[in-house]
Formats: sequence, structure tokens, C-alpha cells
Amino acid sequence: MALGGNQRGRQSPGQAVAINAVFEQLAAGEKGNWNLSSIGRFPVRVILHIALLDADTVEPRDLQNDRLRDVAKMAIRARIEHQRGTLADLVAVIGLRSTHAKIRHLRPLPRRSSIARRPHPSMRDGLRVTFLGTGTSVGIPVITCECDVCTSDDPRNHRLRASVLLEWEGIDGPTRVLVDTATDFRQQALRSGIDKVDAVMYTHGHADHILGLDELRIFNFVYRKSIPLYADAATGAVLRHVFSYAFDPEAIGVPQLEIETLDDHVSLFGVRVEAIPLGHGRGTTQAFRVGNFAYATDCNRIPDAAAARLQGLDVLVLDSLRQKPHRSHFGLQQALAEVERLQPKKTYLTHLSHDLEHAAVEETLPPHVRVAYDEMVIELPIPDAWRCA
Ligand SMILES: [Zn+2]
Ligand SMILES: [Zn+2]
Ligand SMILES: [Zn+2]
Repeated sequence: MALGGNQRGRQSPGQAVAINAVFEQLAAGEKGNWNLSSIGRFPVRVILHIALLDADTVEPRDLQNDRLRDVAKMAIRARIEHQRGTLADLVAVIGLRSTHAKIRHLRPLPRRSSIARRPHPSMRDGLRVTFLGTGTSVGIPVITCECDVCTSDDPRNHRLRASVLLEWEGIDGPTRVLVDTATDFRQQALRSGIDKVDAVMYTHGHADHILGLDELRIFNFVYRKSIPLYADAATGAVLRHVFSYAFDPEAIGVPQLEIETLDDHVSLFGVRVEAIPLGHGRGTTQAFRVGNFAYATDCNRIPDAAAARLQGLDVLVLDSLRQKPHRSHFGLQQALAEVERLQPKKTYLTHLSHDLEHAAVEETLPPHVRVAYDEMVIELPIPDAWRCA
């Protein structure tokens, strides 16, 4: 199993603040009259050097002051697509007081076609899991909140609504299966370069897990085909109700979707995906298992029958909302008790609220339990027994 992201040395908190301020300005699209020698305390040449590694796209003579924002955006995109880590990783690279030579290990961007630019899973027979969001229903930062987590400089504390992308080499080629269409799906798709969705698996019908559904229509436009949505009966009913316009056969310009009722397993593009019902307050949520990987968000009860189907895991992703228990989510101690019970080799906690500060919580955890963060990538093999015709 390989973990995305790098673990290079960290820079001082002061540097992190300055660099984050730069990226905030860039993200906000501020042109301004920037001094070409620095933006904040961050040397422009470092941004440019990173961007220049994309030699196919950027000509050095194009780097006029007014193009700085675009160039820096390319740098960010290069980081997203090729570092596959977090902003913290880029900050760490820059924290080395980079010379051109030192940042050379950022590989240049390959020439892209207009579509299908997301690389396939690097392991031919493997499963790749990308965390598109790891936050609870309101996301982090929370609107109006000024707590230490919501105002943190550590990008691992910035969490979009919970969702993962599963990728594998299927019978028809690279396969991308989305787990939930979170409220932030559009932003997640752009950030992670998702250019195709072959199917969606729904965990349950709560707003934070479904409200990005409308964004799927762009894939209908590009690929000219409908997308299957796998949902249990209750979730399917919610989707039909909330997005009634999308299921109106007379409507035009709406997402083209087909709801398939989820049974206890489904064969998707040559791979078996199991759906395992868990308790989520008064309702039910579906955990999904592929090989020795399972994703179990939004749950506060794992019935014995489900626990039996969650044995022998290499990686478990598990709900852990906050320190204290909650009526429909595991609190941290309950999540750890479930880890004891299920004995996965490695567990990543997700669906976190601003009650849990990334680094502080990780310090308290045993090494086989970590806190997931947005854009984290894990890869693991898919055993032959999970392959099907
Ligand atoms: Zn949720
Ligand atoms: Zn907060
Ligand atoms: Zn929920």
C-alpha cells in the first residue's frame, strides 16, 4: 500500500502563514500590483519555477506581471496533479528554501488531451482511493466560526463534505466510481481532476452526501450517456424526491441518471463491490467493501452481521465525528473501540467536525489509526476473488 503525499521537512509556522496568505490571494483572483520579487514573504521565483516545469504550457517570455495569477494557478494545478499531496506538501517543498535544483523533483506535466487526463491507477490490478472530502455535514471551516481548527493554517484541517473516489482498471478500461455526490462535488471534481464518472454508489440520502448530484450532468454532456446510481431503496426514494426534475422524462438539460437498487453486492466493471448496512441514528447507511478496503462513513452502530463482513481488512475508513459520542455518528473513542473489534490493519478516520484538530488528534492515536485529510490517496491491491466477469 502506498500513501499519496510527501513527508518532507516542515517549515516554520510563520512561513506557513505567509504562503497560505499568498495562495488565498491567488485563489481569490486578486491581480493587484504585486512586487515581482515577492508576494508576502514568498519569493515569486519559487512559484514561477514550479510553474515553469510545465514547459509545454508556459513560455518563460510569457511571464509578465499580469500573468502571474494564471501561472501560479498552473503551479497549484501541477501540485494537485503530480504531487498528489496537500498544500502542506507544497509548503514543505518551499520550506526547503528551494533553489531551482531542489524543486526539480516535481515532474513536468505530460501533454494532456482534452478529456481523460486523470492518470489511471498506477497499480495495474489495484484500487486507488482518493479522499474528495473528509468533513462533516457543514464542512470545515464552518461558516461564522473562528475556532482554532476553522482558522488553522494546516490545510489538513480544511475539509469538504465527505466523499471518496474509487478507481481501478476495469474490464472496459480505467473505471471511476464515486461514493456519494457531496455538496462540494463540483469543487472536488475540479480539484482532483475528475474527468469521468462511471457510476455513483450512495451511502445514504442525507443532504451532505447527495446535494452535488446535479453536477453529474456535465459528464452526460461530455460522454453522451447516462450514469447509473446505486442506492438502497430508502436513498433512491430520497434522490427521486429531492431531484424530481432530474427524473422527469419530459425535462431537458437535466442530469441523465438511472437509479439501480442496491442489493448486498454489485458487480461493477469487473469488480465486486459489497454493500454492508450499518446503523446511522434512526436510519441506515451503506458501507462499501472492495477487496480488503472498506469505507464506512456516517454510522454509530455496526451490527454483528456487518462486523462479520468487515473482517480481514487492510484498510478501513471509519466515521469519527468528534470527541464525544453523537446520536448518529461514532465519537473518537467509539471509533477506536470499533477498530479494536474489527481489527483492520490500518484505519483512517473521516467525516470530522471542527472538534478534531488533525495533528493534535493524530498524536493521541496508535500508529495504525490515522486521520484522513482531503486529497489523500491510498492504493491497495484488489484480490483475484473480487474480480468478476
Ligand atoms: Zn454525513
Ligand atoms: Zn470552528
Ligand atoms: Zn448522514
